[in-house]
Amino acid sequence: MKVAIVTGASRGIGSAIAKALSENGYNLVLNYRASREELEALAATLSTEVVLVQGDVGSFEESEAIINAAKTHFGRIDLLVNNAGIARDNLIMRMSEDDFDAVSTTNLKGTFNCTKHVSRTMVKQRFGRIINISSVVGIFGNAGQSNYAASKAGIIGFTKAVAKELAPRNITVNAIAPGFIETQMTDAISEEAKSASVGRIPLARFGKPEDIAKAVVFLASEDANYITGQVIQIDGGMTL
Ligand code: NAP
Repeated sequence: MKVAIVTGASRGIGSAIAKALSENGYNLVLNYRASREELEALAATLSTEVVLVQGDVGSFEESEAIINAAKTHFGRIDLLVNNAGIARDNLIMRMSEDDFDAVSTTNLKGTFNCTKHVSRTMVKQRFGRIINISSVVGIFGNAGQSNYAASKAGIIGFTKAVAKELAPRNITVNAIAPGFIETQMTDAISEEAKSASVGRIPLARFGKPEDIAKAVVFLASEDANYITGQVIQIDGGMTL
């Protein structure tokens, strides 16, 4: 049976990815930072084997423990989904150093930490799939999100560099760049700003976490064997 690790799986996009992977037969290591109850509730609905691991992906040591839990429990790791992420929006003039550091550490360094720790196992296996959740904001920018945009743009550069490094070992590394997806992260946006945003989306709606999860299942599958270093935008056409 295939084994996947999903970071930040307690709600939103990470939770939908976990559900879709389980439906497709993956045993799972699901990571959370604080929301254990939410993740336990999700795990209780899944039919494959699930291990829950607390840990902050921004910590080099804790992310190593997340990866090691998968190795110890299942003996192999087929897929890592670097999904955990936070936003702390503000205009550059008002953005604190702490807000910049927190977002960079979770989003970009967290992706580095987990990828670095998983790479040894995947190289030994001569097989692996790594999928990084970036954002369209990392490609096009967004006022009030310089910290978030920088972290998500960094993930795209990181994805392409690591894809080149690991391709000779039959490991693919891709990024997904969602537009607006209905989760707790976008709940924070005012109704006024939401309707203005929907007006810019040709498919005239926000996406659902499942729209991202389906792309993860595809990129992890054998049908995507020859796809690496790519950034797939899933945004209802918003950036066309
Ligand atoms: P969300 O609902 O806020 O969920 C974020 C998840 O990440 C939670 O499970 C949270 O768990 C976890 N998390 C946060 N910091 C963590 C850390 N340091 N270590 C481990 N887990 C951590 O967000 P979402 O909308 O599902 O977003 C998921 C990913 O998609 C993020 O990378 C986000 O940037 C990206 N994305 C989202 C959208 C969107 O429109 N929603 C668009 C583009 C990209 P705890 O509560 O336990 O901390």
